[in-house]
Amino acid sequence: MSEILLQTIGLTKQYGHHKAVDHVNIHIKKGAIYGFIGRNGAGKTTCLKMISGLAKPTSGEIEMFGYKGKDLGRIRTRVGCLIESPGLYGNMDAYENLKIKCKLFGIHKDNYIEEILRVVGLSDVGKKKTKHFSLGMKQRLGIGLALVGEPDLLVLDEPINGLDPQGIAEVRDIIQKLRDERNMTILISSHILEELSKIATDYGIIHNGSLLQELTREELMSRCSERIEVILDEPEKALPILDALGFANYQVIDKEHIHIFERLSESAVLNMELAKAGIPIKGIQVTSEELEAYFLNLTGGAQNA
Ligand code: ATP
Repeated sequence: MSEILLQTIGLTKQYGHHKAVDHVNIHIKKGAIYGFIGRNGAGKTTCLKMISGLAKPTSGEIEMFGYKGKDLGRIRTRVGCLIESPGLYGNMDAYENLKIKCKLFGIHKDNYIEEILRVVGLSDVGKKKTKHFSLGMKQRLGIGLALVGEPDLLVLDEPINGLDPQGIAEVRDIIQKLRDERNMTILISSHILEELSKIATDYGIIHNGSLLQELTREELMSRCSERIEVILDEPEKALPILDALGFANYQVIDKEHIHIFERLSESAVLNMELAKAGIPIKGIQVTSEELEAYFLNLTGGAQNA
């Protein structure tokens, strides 16, 4: 079994009578990209603040790198975080913002800042003041700031919130790179499961302060069954064609639907072969919409989104 780098035990935060986080037990393996998913107000930020040492738990414990309680102070520098919006000095450029953080950390190495700028894709921003940055650039610089001190665990609170698809892809690439090249463990929250599904290796789903589920990517995918959906009359007529094409992992769902759980990139070929065999297709699509539906169902249906 992989080593657990971070776990919370009965982690709870109460504001007045309201439990923002209620006995949450999460388990994050070393090297994981852990997607922490929940709707707005579910308790994600509060949880991440406690993990990052920015808020004090009402009760429960956090154990990281084998340390807990008061001893956590000893390993704080191994955790880099970006919680809510990055605190940037608007009148300074990216380099200057990083330089301030490096000074605070007592880091004066050559090319240290240049390397961080490279990792977060901001090498070419020059002297542009950060107040003129796009949201995506600000978020990437926020990640860069969290990287100062070379943490082993990176905690990112909704870093893709409000970004356009390109901005989201850029942040995803950075996270994947940090994990692959630096073997970092990354805890990243989002209210959109789909947007983390390309990179997350594990998931925790939180709702109304409680952790509903923890599952691996494989478990999620098998529950959500990414698939080719074929809509047609008399599905059984298509089965010999599927067999001849070598498809083995499929299911006839009802009188109009076949679901195929493999070779998802081959839907066009399949469509053509079925047409050639004189089997009219009413519709064919690869669906992963189920992923979001899975999350919405788990957390009380789309009407509560
Ligand atoms: P969002 O994405 O909207 O920030 P979230 O999942 O991060 O959602 P939290 O910000 O952790 O959720 O908030 C969880 C609950 O705790 C919410 O009901 C929120 O109103 C409440 N809450 C958070 N911080 C405080 C605070 N300082 N005082 C009182 N209530 C708070």
